[in-house]
Amino acid sequence: MPVARWRRFGTISGVKIPEITRRKTRALDVGGVVIGGGAPVRIQSMTNTPTRDAAATLEQIRQLAGAGAELVRVAVPRADDTAALTEIVAESPVPIIADVHFHFDRALEAIAAGVAKIRLNPGNIADRSQVLRIIDAAGAAGVAIRVGVNEGSVVDRREGEQRNSDLAASLVELMVAKLAGYLEVFEASGFDRLVLSAKSHDAVTTVAVNRLLSARWDWPLHLGVTHAGTPQTGAIRSAAAMGALLCDGIGDTIRISYAGDPVVEVEAARELLASLRLRQRVGIELIACPTCGRLETDITDVAEEIRKVLADVTAPITVAIMGCVVNGPGEAAHADVAVCAGKDKVILYNRGKRIRTVSADKIVEAVVAEVRNIIRD
Ligand code: SF4
Repeated sequence: MPVARWRRFGTISGVKIPEITRRKTRALDVGGVVIGGGAPVRIQSMTNTPTRDAAATLEQIRQLAGAGAELVRVAVPRADDTAALTEIVAESPVPIIADVHFHFDRALEAIAAGVAKIRLNPGNIADRSQVLRIIDAAGAAGVAIRVGVNEGSVVDRREGEQRNSDLAASLVELMVAKLAGYLEVFEASGFDRLVLSAKSHDAVTTVAVNRLLSARWDWPLHLGVTHAGTPQTGAIRSAAAMGALLCDGIGDTIRISYAGDPVVEVEAARELLASLRLRQRVGIELIACPTCGRLETDITDVAEEIRKVLADVTAPITVAIMGCVVNGPGEAAHADVAVCAGKDKVILYNRGKRIRTVSADKIVEAVVAEVRNIIRD
């Protein structure tokens, strides 16, 4: 069994350290995955293959599900994309969400193909009667609809205005007002399988608008930062916005999105939720020394190598790779497996107990063997 963890919540030295309390939202079953109502924060992702290529899309969906995605969205801009959905839905290991823009008939085709949910921006489906047809079809099929507003669709309509701090506040209000307008038709129809979202490329706007949404509605909320850029900027911007919201207890599903392999997005989402203790960690938790001038043995790439070799591990095991005795023994005390490097050698620890010395070129091998022993125990 992994080592016991420190107590980090409750009243400690007279100071109350609260755990995150989730905001209460309605529970919604989306293809067997419950969103909201106190269910775990769900991880979503989106494929970047052409959906009409069912084989490639299914392959990516399986990779995403294997990495921890619980719902996967696919884009359906063309009729041959929705035509591929029947096969994709039938063979996907997770519920499928169709991402619909502009064409209301794509939404109807996706519902007919058996998707569990539609992502809709009613702002780009001009005809209200078309939105009503989607609502009727979704209601009859038990399909959920995420109604989303993006900063882009609001800003485009504010001709001649420049961004400034006053405008930032009004932008958030405009996004909420826009979403309220979209929701009128759903509420008037008695449609109650809704998820809401409001996205911006800007972390502060994302936090502000979702706080307002959470205060006003109790539909489940999907969180995301749109157009977050490259993995480097996207991961930090997403963690800043979603981390703040999740600490407030806001958010029922999340998607971290940035350019590149979507499997990496899922891993980042998993790490974010595990870091906030909102989901149990699956696999290795790495504690790694950032290195400094005290380092006498080069361990720069060791943590990444260990992470790759132990990628198949699902048990929550903590591994600490430390560069010297300053913090090494301390981290080793509450890690399952640890190494503390000296000159050309490392000390190997198992659950805080020093077990042997290993030559520096055998660190990965020794740590991996120790982790596999713990899993076998
Ligand atoms: S563990 Fe040692 S080598 Fe690593 S950063 Fe800390 S002081 Fe520096």
